[in-house]
Amino acid sequence: MTWASAAVSRSRSLKRKASTHLRSSVDSILAAGDIASFPLSLAEGRRVAIGHWQLAHYLGSVAGRNAAGTQTEVNTVPFFWTMQYGKSVRYTGYCPSFDDIIY
Ligand SMILES: Cc1cc2nc3c(=O)[nH]c(=O)nc-3n(C[C@H](O)[C@H](O)[C@H](O)COP(=O)(O)OP(=O)(O)OC[C@H]3O[C@@H](n4cnc5c(N)ncnc54)[C@H](O)[C@@H]3O)c2cc1C
Repeated sequence: MTWASAAVSRSRSLKRKASTHLRSSVDSILAAGDIASFPLSLAEGRRVAIGHWQLAHYLGSVAGRNAAGTQTEVNTVPFFWTMQYGKSVRYTGYCPSFDDIIY
């Protein structure tokens, strides 16, 4: 969500913490994408910042709806697909730590 990210990053006085409706500390400015942290219901409302393309796209659509006057809450399961060194990695959910590293 380029315009929201840019608007928030331009103002040094703004916090990037967003509500479940993606409103920033300045009510008229919404935050979405990599720049935003928000309460994730899947993580029992813990504030998260997740840098995935799918989530940036989804948060942008929620912020856009709320900018248009709705009261849409973030309610999603984050996921990303990626290719690393010829291997397909498919991650779904929220995992703040890990059990093991496989080389
Ligand atoms: C190397 C790399 C690999 C990745 N691979 C994956 C992957 O495999 N799968 C996946 O899901 N995600 C991946 N990601 C993460 C994904 O790219 C980001 O989560 C997503 O692009 C975030 O979108 P965004 O709109 O929030 O931010 P961005 O895409 O970073 O867009 C922000 C925009 O704001 C502009 N901007 C910044 N400051 C200003 C300003 N002051 N004024 C005007 N414009 C400004 C920037 O130029 C930029 O165009 C990868 C990221 C990187 C860096």
